[in-house]
Amino acid sequence: MKALFLDRDGVLNVLRPNDYVKNPDELVLMPGVAEALTLCHKHFDYIFVVTNQQGIGKGLMTERDLEDIHAKLTSALPFIDKIYHCPHLKSAHSFLRKPSIGMALQARREHPGLRLKESVMVGDASTDMLFGRRAGMTTVLVGDNSDCATAQPWLVDYRYNDLLAFAESL
Ligand SMILES: [Mg+2]
Repeated sequence: MKALFLDRDGVLNVLRPNDYVKNPDELVLMPGVAEALTLCHKHFDYIFVVTNQQGIGKGLMTERDLEDIHAKLTSALPFIDKIYHCPHLKSAHSFLRKPSIGMALQARREHPGLRLKESVMVGDASTDMLFGRRAGMTTVLVGDNSDCATAQPWLVDYRYNDLLAFAESL
């Protein structure tokens, strides 16, 4: 069994610079993601989202707010099987927070037969690439975060403009 692991902000929805998506109204999907997941669904047994959400740890939003946001996300993108999130502050050094691999291990624990080595991590940041690399996955960088690919090329297996371009390459 293989899974597609997706970062959320900057991959599925538009980044809010220096801010967080704090309520469903602030969640704006990137173009082409619904079509992309329809294609990905044919190639992977599972589609998971793995997202750091320290806005909760900072008190800017609640777990309930995040549930509402993710209800909107999964109703727009029904091929998402599960969303894992880390609410803890970066300073808490949580094993759940990317680039640590707690969320990948949690997914594997909950889905017997899931092979991380055959799975793929798609993200827009070097923390996503390090998470994928440490978990033994293939890594895919999307978006225009060129410093990640140039500064740490060993972390990035493939690069695409966006999730749809990756999905069309499968
Ligand atoms: Mg991101």
